[in-house]
Amino acid sequence: MTLRIVKSSGGSIKVSLIECPACGADLSGRKKPSAHLLTEHVPEDFGLSAPGRRVVADGGER
Ligand SMILES: [Zn+2]
Repeated sequence: MTLRIVKSSGGSIKVSLIECPACGADLSGRKKPSAHLLTEHVPEDFGLSAPGRRVVADGGER
């Protein structure tokens, strides 16, 4: 995952995603890089379980 970290003169820190961690798309020129993640990918692309589905560490159901 490639991030750009910019510290403003006021001391606040802005972190921008400049490359998609799933497909490697260049996001540096986009106003809202997160929109790409929401529209182009599903949670499984990032190794996450689908919404509403809970995976228990020991593999059992709860
Ligand atoms: Zn992507």
